[in-house]
Amino acid sequence: MAAFGTIFMPKMSLANYQDEQWISAGLVDSDSIQLHPGAHVLHYASTCFEGLKAFRHQDGSINIFRMQQNIERMAQSSRLLALPDIDPQLLQQMIVQVVTEFAQQVPFPPGSMYIRPTHIGTEPAIGKAARPTQSSMLYVLLSPVGDYFAGGIKPLTLLLEENGSRCAAHMGMVKGGGNYASALGPIMRAHAEYQADQVLFCPEGDVQETGAANFLLIDGNEIITKDLDSSFLHGITRDSILTLARDSGMTVSERELSVDELIERAQKPECEAALSGTAAVLTPVGTVIRDGQSITVGSGQGGPTTQRLRETLNAIQWGEQADSHQWLKRID
Ligand SMILES: *Cc1c(COP(=O)(O)O)cnc(C)c1O
Repeated sequence: MAAFGTIFMPKMSLANYQDEQWISAGLVDSDSIQLHPGAHVLHYASTCFEGLKAFRHQDGSINIFRMQQNIERMAQSSRLLALPDIDPQLLQQMIVQVVTEFAQQVPFPPGSMYIRPTHIGTEPAIGKAARPTQSSMLYVLLSPVGDYFAGGIKPLTLLLEENGSRCAAHMGMVKGGGNYASALGPIMRAHAEYQADQVLFCPEGDVQETGAANFLLIDGNEIITKDLDSSFLHGITRDSILTLARDSGMTVSERELSVDELIERAQKPECEAALSGTAAVLTPVGTVIRDGQSITVGSGQGGPTTQRLRETLNAIQWGEQADSHQWLKRID
């Protein structure tokens, strides 16, 4: 089976910002774009993206999950990177247009259509190292994805990184390529030296997130995760899972979580930990590594609460359970 995110629909929706206005180009071929080699994005990393999904329900309808939240976050990322402001209504039209075009290709659950809006600075101006791009390009790619857990759910091993950080402190809320590049070095070292799957960034002992997912600790009826500040990415899956946890009567504690507290709680047999993100929804964490020492989280196998919350969110996304928070937008 093809790796996640390597198959694309042949068209994408595209719009350009030039002379202080957005001009839609409609649907265009998705296998290339034309870009000046001096484009701002290629030198000064003026780029951000989003990731959301469309689901096919049993009745054949196509439903996009929490699109408005993703559009708002892209507007925020664009602002923080001094890219031109996006037009939220235009982006919504672009998403709906391309998903409608390829509605027949949206896989049935557990598959889905992954939607990747991307915003890049296009001004050919290598002298603008300290100034924003005046022109940009916004496009929406589609990539059909299968069952993320086709090979079974394997609990992850996370290396706790207490010295370095994922990205610059003031860039945490940006969903941007630069932050991913900045996290790659530590992640590759964690693979090579500890065979860890991911790095959990905990600068000065403050448990933040991994390279591309938020971290949740589940201790009995309580779910603990860092409260929203500007240092990390505010995941929409995180918010959805916390909402479902509250709905089910759990105590949701959004607050500082230290590495010491994490290690102490992890050793209780009923403790669970998980990563949340659009691609995998909720993935159990079985082991954390601190100072070269492996610590098993709870049973080490993931637990029933992680599974229940993932299944509940999936059931809403797949149209098997009432969408009581109006998270899905049906397109016709
Ligand atoms: C995208 C992302 C997440 C998860 O966000 P979702 O909206 O849940 O997909 C978490 N952390 C980082 C760094 C991300 O880029």
